[in-house]
Amino acid sequence: MTARSFSASSGQRDRVLVIAPHGSYRTAPFLQAAKRLNLDVLIASQGEHSIVSDYARGLHIDFSNEERAIDVILAEARNRNFTGIIGTDDATSELAAKVAAKLNLPHNPPQAVKIAQRKDLARLCLRTASINIPRFDVLTTEIPLAQQETKVSFPAVIKPVALSASRGVIRVNTMPELEQAVDRIKSIMATELQIDKSVRETLLLEEFIPGKEVAIEAILHAGELDILTIFDKPDPLDGPFFEETYYITPTSFNSDIQQKIHETVLASCQAYGLTEGPVHAECRINENGVWVLEVAARTIGGLCGRLLNLGTGYSLEELVLLHATGKRVSVESVAVAAGVLMIPIPRAGILKRIEGLLDAQRIPYISELSIEVRDGYELIPLPEGNSYLGFIFAEAPTVEQAEQALREAHACLNIVIAPLWKIGGNIPANNKVA
Ligand code: ADP
Repeated sequence: MTARSFSASSGQRDRVLVIAPHGSYRTAPFLQAAKRLNLDVLIASQGEHSIVSDYARGLHIDFSNEERAIDVILAEARNRNFTGIIGTDDATSELAAKVAAKLNLPHNPPQAVKIAQRKDLARLCLRTASINIPRFDVLTTEIPLAQQETKVSFPAVIKPVALSASRGVIRVNTMPELEQAVDRIKSIMATELQIDKSVRETLLLEEFIPGKEVAIEAILHAGELDILTIFDKPDPLDGPFFEETYYITPTSFNSDIQQKIHETVLASCQAYGLTEGPVHAECRINENGVWVLEVAARTIGGLCGRLLNLGTGYSLEELVLLHATGKRVSVESVAVAAGVLMIPIPRAGILKRIEGLLDAQRIPYISELSIEVRDGYELIPLPEGNSYLGFIFAEAPTVEQAEQALREAHACLNIVIAPLWKIGGNIPANNKVA
């Protein structure tokens, strides 16, 4: 794709500051998008000794000292004149909002960003706004379950309040299952030392909502919500763990339900106070309506944003960068169907190799296959793990053909995994798949 130039009003290239946790997989798509848009980009991140040149050349800040980080960025802004600021991940979006507010650039109220990141705060906020959400209670790992009151009935879902990508999210059908799940989440959270202790100890117990699930990608412009796409998730997601697998677009739900989804996600954003930037939401739909499972102020994870290209002519990251510099492009839906499979990790162990890649790529309508994990890496499935083996993309005349192509391509893969033997049996905290 050729570079498309967007100039700042002064006639100079727009310059965007991208605040990213070191090593975030979201950074590379933003850099590629900036290149295509001919934007000047500076990365702000932690750690000075990166071997990745964009990080090494960027601004080095200490995320643990927010005041100082803001000062460093503001000092840089005096020389560089940023025309937009984004935080790539949950971990950096609040800081980005605070800095953008000081520089009078498009931003969300920092408090709204915080609510969107914390599942307990988000639920309380949505309940106050009378939005359709599961009945829930906030629990703690610090008091025995038997001593905590809850009105939530089984089947239920128990989850930590500050993780993403379904990590630690577990369906439970009985009290003993709930007790086991709490222990398991406690072990996961014990490794997440960057999260405040009180947040690590907080759990959300909520009723299991049956139904079909959709994921929504959208962008807020001064409080108006542009839905970029609604993905159907064709596999039943009934637990006990909730691995994201197939995402297919456009959705098969009719326009009335799509309208209801739009209204519900917008009402949730308004309840949080979000007005600007990317929104990723998950909803369930059943005979009782559209239920909000999550509304986050960020883009979808992984490489899934690439699917947006088809419908809009822009990747998701390009749209976010354009928004950050105050530009709104019209998004139109097209007749082509597309889908992605986030290749699930079949079991724990060491990845030896993946066979059948060429066969998978040859399946009609498969447009791309990307393996994200190298041979020799340790694979950790949900609920502890937080990654996928890779992504398979399809583009086809119909959604059925796109889904079928992904299923056939997945069936071609033989994922060879060696068992992992550990002295003492515990998974080291930082030994996660990249
Ligand atoms: P995360 O932010 O880690 O993705 P979510 O709260 O969105 O966590 O939950 C991840 C997935 O777990 C959802 O997409 C859904 O499939 C399932 N899930 C979570 N809560 C519920 C619920 N109350 N009822 C049914 N399924 C749920």
